[in-house]
Amino acid sequence: MAYHINTKCIYGNNVKNPVDNTGAVSFPIYQTATFSHPDVGSSTGYDYSRLQNPTREQLEKVVASLENGYDAVAFSSGMAAMNALMELFQPGDHILTSNDLYGGTIRIFNHINKKNGIEIEYIDTSDLSLVKKQIKDNTKAIFVESPTNPMMNVTDLQEIAIIAQSHQLLFLVDNTFLSPYFQNPIAFGADVVLHSGTKFLGGHNDTLAGFLVLANETLSERIRFILKTTGSGLAPFDSWLLLRGIKTLAIRMEAQQKNAIAIADWLGTQEKVRNVYYVGLPSHPGYEVSLKQSSGFGSMISFHVNTPETAVQLLRKVRLIQYAESLGGVESLITYPMLQTHADVPEEEREAKGINNTLLRLSVGIEYVEDLIADLAQALE
Ligand SMILES: *Cc1c(COP(=O)(O)O)cnc(C)c1O
Repeated sequence: MAYHINTKCIYGNNVKNPVDNTGAVSFPIYQTATFSHPDVGSSTGYDYSRLQNPTREQLEKVVASLENGYDAVAFSSGMAAMNALMELFQPGDHILTSNDLYGGTIRIFNHINKKNGIEIEYIDTSDLSLVKKQIKDNTKAIFVESPTNPMMNVTDLQEIAIIAQSHQLLFLVDNTFLSPYFQNPIAFGADVVLHSGTKFLGGHNDTLAGFLVLANETLSERIRFILKTTGSGLAPFDSWLLLRGIKTLAIRMEAQQKNAIAIADWLGTQEKVRNVYYVGLPSHPGYEVSLKQSSGFGSMISFHVNTPETAVQLLRKVRLIQYAESLGGVESLITYPMLQTHADVPEEEREAKGINNTLLRLSVGIEYVEDLIADLAQALE
């Protein structure tokens, strides 16, 4: 029986723990590196924790169920997941990607993957005819974030999936910003969904984690071989923290979104605020596509203020909202992308995208919304 996503957050598709028969309601932490064998040539199904560990496996089953994937693999961070994903490609392969992305993804593309002979081409993936035009003989994949970090650009997942399928390309989606609660790219034809589990899935700003959700068995086997070989799987204790965090994903996503809508509306009325980028605003260019492909808008807001001085003042004066990198947790955080998440992106490129000294990014938590607004108001004064 397939459960509603709110139920799957707690149990995946299977209430009973298939490994442990103690009846423990909270899934145990199997803090073991290795497993003894019942007989020569036989195995309990677990051999060595780099390959698989029951706690990590339970987490992977829950995440696969949330994304309706064939399989999910848990890594030690979002970037570890990204690194494993890129091991699918060979020197000479060409990948088309969004021109606005998480800074760490741009860093791995430009400094690791390019060194390894992979061609990365940044384009506006919301422009479908441009995507079609840029496909070459050696193109192997299209990688998108939607909405993007930090400019909140939206790409039509279904349309890109159709283009990818017709050219036999892999369609890879970083779904971190909306989490599986609001968006399920595999339903539109994505082959691999990446998550930084550090963000909404973990939800408490206390653990690093990453996931690759695979749409089919072939990809699952290839990624599991890469995991086994490179050894970047999530540790048992961190897997347990993620399992615990995901139990409240549904209620956190709703509470954070409700706060974010109120804050986006309020920011729009502020004299010192110039542009508000929130996909839930009907004025956002990606609003219509969002309505089609996601069940919510999430809780990430970027905005430009009038001057660099206002940006710095706001970062210095917030008391409840913390000036910190990262996002998606119950604690509201404010980020200066230019100096933090996107510091390694060349200045010219950054400026062209609007990531400048007046852009701020806010990850809205679950605090009482009037407290958050009062904090922003006193910091903007
Ligand atoms: C944070 C983030 C990542 C990287 O994840 P880590 O867990 O920090 O390694 C990748 N993509 C997006 C969209 C992110 O926000």
